[in-house]
Amino acid sequence: METKIVPIKEENLDKSALEEAGKVIKKGGLVAFPTETVYGLGGNALDEAAAGKIYRAKGRPSDNPLIVHICRLEDIYPIVKEVPEAALKLADAFWPGPLTMILRKSDKVPYATTGGLDTVAVRMPGHKTALAFIGAAGGYVAAPSANTSGKPSPTLAKYVTEDLGGRIDMIIDGGRIAIGLESTIVDLTETVPVILRPGYITKEMLEKVLGYVETDKTILDDDAGQAPKAPGMKYKHYAPKGELTIISGSRENVIEAINQKSREMEEKGKKVGIIGTDDTIAFYRADVVKSAGSREKEDTIASALYRILREFDDEGVDVIYSESFEESAKAGGIGQAIMNRLLKAAGHHMERV
Ligand code: AMP
Ligand code: MG
Repeated sequence: METKIVPIKEENLDKSALEEAGKVIKKGGLVAFPTETVYGLGGNALDEAAAGKIYRAKGRPSDNPLIVHICRLEDIYPIVKEVPEAALKLADAFWPGPLTMILRKSDKVPYATTGGLDTVAVRMPGHKTALAFIGAAGGYVAAPSANTSGKPSPTLAKYVTEDLGGRIDMIIDGGRIAIGLESTIVDLTETVPVILRPGYITKEMLEKVLGYVETDKTILDDDAGQAPKAPGMKYKHYAPKGELTIISGSRENVIEAINQKSREMEEKGKKVGIIGTDDTIAFYRADVVKSAGSREKEDTIASALYRILREFDDEGVDVIYSESFEESAKAGGIGQAIMNRLLKAAGHHMERV
């Protein structure tokens, strides 16, 4: 299949191109599109066959549910059993935006979309192109991240092309993505709201609106011992080809340990990559040293992380050492999402020095 690549700017929406993209979805095809979090791979959420195509294009296990994207709040009613008060409050505070809510699904949503679950994940993305595309596509677009399963979520259209070129009908190129990490997921089907995946919308932000919110225990711990709450959580995501280890400790100890480990690996003939931060990269010695961004501005780290992991793949590094963001994760904020994704990429391999 030939994949058509269509550039669309958020500031200058090309209506006819969006209509064309919408038609592809209505006919049962697949279109990758930009959102504020990462690129999504869209198909008609109410069409079983389209959901099947998404799983096949990504090579994703079919029990790993998809998120249904909408562009107007009222569109939530037909796809869920009930809309709890908490959902309306959260929608009011954070939609359109990087927050996904889990609710009980109605019969309108096929099990193919929800990975066999009686619940459905719903989000209204905070991106003009995404909203216009969803509208043109009929209002319900199922979309996981637009990467091959096991690769980091794409933050640039070229990564979508690398992973899915030739396997999907169209890619809307919206340039670089702002946030760079997937949406926060909050489960509203329990008595107490539970965060299943941390993201840009933090626990503190949710608690301001809802009062008490819990965090699923598997998010920062090694999930080996715990039964995952959502099927998707059991899969190892975002794994780079090089073996990634997170090194945690004081700044001085981390720099020394990473340099020593890198030396040892290079002596064994391995190509080494290092993930540092703006004020530490000058101290590292290895084949490839990259800064994830500034610890003072953690948004920069969130938006660079997946690109860096992909670059290490392209540069063929065998081993990667990364600084830890454990401290900022404990402090709340986007640090928790950064650390959660880094731990997943490392298969929870972390050493304290
Ligand atoms: P993504 O990882 O961005 O492709 O988004 C899909 C993720 O959303 C899945 O891996 C799940 O973790 C989560 N998800 C989607 N639907 C549900 C659901 N009904 N219940 C719990 N988690 C869900
Ligand atoms: Mg994904």
